[in-house]
Amino acid sequence: MAGVSRLQYTTEIRLIRVMCSGRVDLAFILRAFSNGMDGVFIGGCRLNECNYITHGNYDALNMVLLCRRIMEHIGLNPERLRIEFMSSGEGHVLTEVINDFGKNVRDLGPLGTSEGIDENELKSKLEEVTKLIPYIKIAEREKLASRLENEEEYDGLFTSDEVDRLFSEVVSYYIDPEKCQACMICLRKCPVEAIVGGKNQIHVIDQEKCIKCGTCFEACPPRFEAVKEISGEPVPPPIPEKERKIVRKSKEK
Ligand code: SF4
Ligand code: SF4
Repeated sequence: MAGVSRLQYTTEIRLIRVMCSGRVDLAFILRAFSNGMDGVFIGGCRLNECNYITHGNYDALNMVLLCRRIMEHIGLNPERLRIEFMSSGEGHVLTEVINDFGKNVRDLGPLGTSEGIDENELKSKLEEVTKLIPYIKIAEREKLASRLENEEEYDGLFTSDEVDRLFSEVVSYYIDPEKCQACMICLRKCPVEAIVGGKNQIHVIDQEKCIKCGTCFEACPPRFEAVKEISGEPVPPPIPEKERKIVRKSKEK
């Protein structure tokens, strides 16, 4: 409606259309910041007026509330991220909030440098958080699916302490070479092909590829218990490739 009504809004904004505000993933926001955007605005339909049973605008709201806490955690001003809800007929609301948001972001200044974070540090912080997105989503899945009844509840959904803890307690997964029996169950179930192994080969986890989903930990049969969950300490280096062959007792004779 803003265009049809010839309403003006700041030209600094770049519009990206999605079918539903619920489609906007945490990764999209971090990518926008990584690509040099100083602010991200998400416009969704009014809460409880979703055309679909999914009510994706609640998902978008929860994700924004979480992302704002994450931004605080890495030293970015959370005011650089905003979500507002409006109907498609409220072009004047869209122009007002976009103009207001544009002014706020302009006042905040360039991303990172205004917060005292240099370019390389910002890049590595955003990369680090992006890598942890699957872990974050799994850890916070219940709250990310919640439906807040009023704005007063927004502040309490995710707390700074909770997000700080989320990052300090990041888990890693490691396969104990003494216990792995090369059954290949974890390798088949890993969603990102982060497990290296094969028949009669002790399996190892490629920590660069691992998204910390915990599937291998759940999948490794209890009689082997070869996958370890590690928190607060470094992951042991992988066993060298030439030492990965498992020699079964029956074949030793
Ligand atoms: S934690 Fe998930 S991603 Fe990482 S190795 Fe295990 S199954 Fe693969
Ligand atoms: S599921 Fe367990 S025993 Fe089987 S290959 Fe993976 S780590 Fe080894």
